[in-house]
Amino acid sequence: MKHFNDIIKHIFQPAALLWVFPLLLIIPNVALAVTESDPILFKITDIILPLGVYYLQTSITLNIGLTVACCLPLMILAAFQIVLLYLYGESIIAIDMFLNVATTNVGEVSELLGNLIFAIVTVIVIYLPPIIWAIWLMLSRRRLSSRQLFRPRRLGLTAALVGLILLGCCFAAYPGAAVMRHIFPVNVCSNLVSAVKRTADTRGYKDSSADFSYRPTATRESAEREIYVFVIGETSRADNWQLDGYERPTTPHLAAEKNLIFYPKTLSESNTTHKSVPMLMSYLDASNFGDSICAAKSIFALFNDMGFHTACFSNHSPNHSFIDFFGGQADTSAFIKSQSATKFDSDLIGPLSDFIEAYPEGRLFIVLHTYGSHFNYRERYPDSHSLFKPDNATDADRGNRQQLINAYDNTIAYTDCLLDSIIRRVGREHCNAAVVYTSDHGEDIFDDSRGRFLHASPTPTYYQVHVPFVIWTSDEYGENYPETVRHAAANRDKNVSSSKSAFNTIIDLAGLTTEYADPRYSLAGEDYREPERIYLNDYNEAVELVKSGFKEADVVNCQKHNILSLIHI
Ligand SMILES: [Zn+2]
Repeated sequence: MKHFNDIIKHIFQPAALLWVFPLLLIIPNVALAVTESDPILFKITDIILPLGVYYLQTSITLNIGLTVACCLPLMILAAFQIVLLYLYGESIIAIDMFLNVATTNVGEVSELLGNLIFAIVTVIVIYLPPIIWAIWLMLSRRRLSSRQLFRPRRLGLTAALVGLILLGCCFAAYPGAAVMRHIFPVNVCSNLVSAVKRTADTRGYKDSSADFSYRPTATRESAEREIYVFVIGETSRADNWQLDGYERPTTPHLAAEKNLIFYPKTLSESNTTHKSVPMLMSYLDASNFGDSICAAKSIFALFNDMGFHTACFSNHSPNHSFIDFFGGQADTSAFIKSQSATKFDSDLIGPLSDFIEAYPEGRLFIVLHTYGSHFNYRERYPDSHSLFKPDNATDADRGNRQQLINAYDNTIAYTDCLLDSIIRRVGREHCNAAVVYTSDHGEDIFDDSRGRFLHASPTPTYYQVHVPFVIWTSDEYGENYPETVRHAAANRDKNVSSSKSAFNTIIDLAGLTTEYADPRYSLAGEDYREPERIYLNDYNEAVELVKSGFKEADVVNCQKHNILSLIHI
C-alpha cells in the first residue's frame, strides 16, 4: 500500500499539474484554429496569447491545487465550447447559445443532451482529472517549490508578450475588425455578459414597450365576417416539402388545394426560434430587430386596435421570451402543452375551432404556434402518421440519417394534414378568410460533408434558412378581393424574406396598414419588391447573408433553387 501511495505521489506531483493544466485549457483554442475560417494571424494570436496567460496564472502561487480549482469556470467554458464544436463543427459559444440554454425547456435539453453523450464524456475525461488532482493536492497539502515556478513563469511571460505583439498586428492588419471577437475565452465571456444584458432587457419589456402603438388604419371598407389565421411552423425546411419539388409525397393535401400559393424562394432572416418568431409576429426584420425589439408590440396589438378578436394558441412551452410577451398581447392566449406533457400540433385545432365558434359574427385573427418538426422528430406525430419507415432511430448520428429523414418527412406530412384541417375548418365559415403559414427556420440533417445537424448554430446554413411560405384564401375572399389574390399568385416565383413579408402580407390581406408597415414586402401587393438577402447575426446586427458564415455549399444550394439573384458574392 505504501508502495502504491509512493507511485501516486510521484505521478501526481504539483509541478506536473502546473505544466499540464494550461495545455488542457488551450484545447478549445487549438480546435477553433482548425474549425474557423479566420485569418491565420488571428488563429496564431488566439493560441499564443491565451497560452501565455494560462501559464502565468497557473504559476501565480505555490498552492497549485487552489489555483486550478479557482479555474473551474474556465474549464466549464472550455468544456461547453468543445461540446458545441462537436455539435455544430464551428463557431464560438454565441450569445444566442447562452439564451437558448436559458429559454429552452427541460424536455428539449434532455433530448439534446442524450445525443451528445460522446462529446460530454470526452470533456469529462479531459477536465475531471485535473479537478480531482487539484483537490487531492489541496487535501494532502502539497505545494510547488519557488524554484518550480520559474520556468513556467518565464514561458508564460514570453508567450504573453509575443501574443500581445501579435494582437497589435491583428488590429493594424485588420482595422475596423472586431479582433477581440476572435480571442477565446474573452469573446465567450463578452457574449455571456451580452446574454445577461439581453435577459435583463427582456425582463423590462413590459415597461419599454408600454407606449408603442401601430396606429393602424383600414385600407378598405369591411363590416363582414373575416377570419385570418397565421400558422407559425417550427424547424420545417422547404427542401422536404413536396410543393418545393421534393420527391416524396410529404404535402399531398396542400398540393391538391386549389386556392393555395406556395412561395419556393423564401428565406428566414434568422435560424433561431427566439428571434425569428418575434420578427414573424411583428413589423421587425433583421435590419431593425436589435434596435427596436424591446419597444415593439406584436401584430396582435394592431388587430386589437382594429376591433378584431385575437387569439394565440401555442404548442410550445412558455419560457418568458419575447414570443410569450407577443402572444400574450392577444385577447386570448394559451399554451396547450402546459396542460399536459405530450401534445401533438393537431391538438391546436380544438382551441381554434372553439374560438371561431365563440364569435360567430366577428372578425378574427388567430396565431397557431406549432411544434412542427423540432427534434426529436419521432415525437412530433402519432404512430398513425408514421408513413415513412423505419423512423425510430433518434441518436444524432450520421449513420442514422435515413431514419432521421424518414421521421422528419413524417413531421412534414403531419404538418400537411394539420394545415389541411385548419383550411377546412376556416373554409366552413364561408367568409373572407386566409391562412398564412411559414416556419421560423429550417434544419440541418447531416446533409453534406460538414455533417451539420439541427439549427440555431452560430452561423446559418442554406438548410437552416430556406423555409416554406404558404398563402391560402377562401373562395369568398377570392370573389370579394380578386385583385389581391391575383397579385399574390403573380408573386409566387419571387424571392421572399419570411421575416419581412409575413407581417406585411397578413395585414395587407386583412385590408389594414400602419406607419410601421412596408407595403412593398406584401406578397399580396401589386408592387412587391424582392428583398436584399440579409441575416440577423448573433450580435443582433443585420449582415449580408453571404457574409453570415454561409459556405460554398450553401451558395450552391441557393443557386440550385434560383434563390441567388439577390445574393452578392
Ligand atoms: Zn424554432
